[in-house]
Amino acid sequence: MTQVAILGAAGRMGRALIQAIAAEPQARFAAALDRAGCPESGRDAAVLAGLAPSGVLLGSDLAAALAQADVLVDFTRPEGTMAAVQACLSQRKALVIGTTGLSAEQKAAVAEAARSIPVCLSANYSVGVNVCLRLLRIAAQTLGPGYDVEIVEAHHRHKVDAPSGTALRMGQAVADALGRKLEDCAIYGREGHTGARDANTIGFATVRGGDVVGDHTVMFLGEGERVEIAHKASSRSNFARGALRAAVWLAGRPAGLYDMQDVLGLREA
Ligand code: NAD
Repeated sequence: MTQVAILGAAGRMGRALIQAIAAEPQARFAAALDRAGCPESGRDAAVLAGLAPSGVLLGSDLAAALAQADVLVDFTRPEGTMAAVQACLSQRKALVIGTTGLSAEQKAAVAEAARSIPVCLSANYSVGVNVCLRLLRIAAQTLGPGYDVEIVEAHHRHKVDAPSGTALRMGQAVADALGRKLEDCAIYGREGHTGARDANTIGFATVRGGDVVGDHTVMFLGEGERVEIAHKASSRSNFARGALRAAVWLAGRPAGLYDMQDVLGLREA
């Protein structure tokens, strides 16, 4: 049984994680944490997530909470992640990082910590997206450079960045498999007299609107056929279930920096 503490427990992902733990027989909800002064402090964390009371109260004392846990799952902001790294290092606990937007220096600090403790860092904990990444590598390697690659993604109207991190990760997987550098071959949108398509490019197109949780389609367009690998998310619970799967997998592993491809056994030798 893995004892799981959640940092960012009052947030959208934190609440989804509390619901996921309630449905996971291999995990026990050990502690709920958020920033000091969070308005929900002191409340029963399961109740915040719409569940029956668990007796686990929302706190902010990372050190005390970690003493009860095997693994910390962090879905906060980069400052929260850096505090989590220090706390996990000092108590030699495993750390699952879901927070996005870490700077290069912050990622370097995570990699340094992973020399002493097991850390899982992934920009997307969806099991389906990670399976798609593997399928994309197979498709790109097998179809080869004769197929044009285009990536179309759609998200809700509130999303502030484009293309999505997941679309970029998919483009990276295809570029790696084709021996290209994404920064040299990516085309982000087209307008006007663009000329004929350069065969070495990977095109990105972005749709924004409504309440779309996240759709990604990668097209391989060849002569006489087209292959599409698509993923459509309908709720954030898939990220929570994937992150929890990572937490159960990570606890007790040797120190190292892992990602969801490792958790799911999808990394190629
Ligand atoms: P949110 O704003 O709903 O929740 C964030 C929570 O973190 C809040 O409760 C906030 O009080 C808390 N927090 C902020 N700074 C903190 C700190 N320094 N210490 C402790 N707690 C702190 O956001 P969300 O939608 O739950 O997303 C959280 C993060 O997870 C974002 O970076 C988001 O991009 C990322 N995310 C990643 C994945 C993935 O699969 N990797 C999926 C969804 C979201």
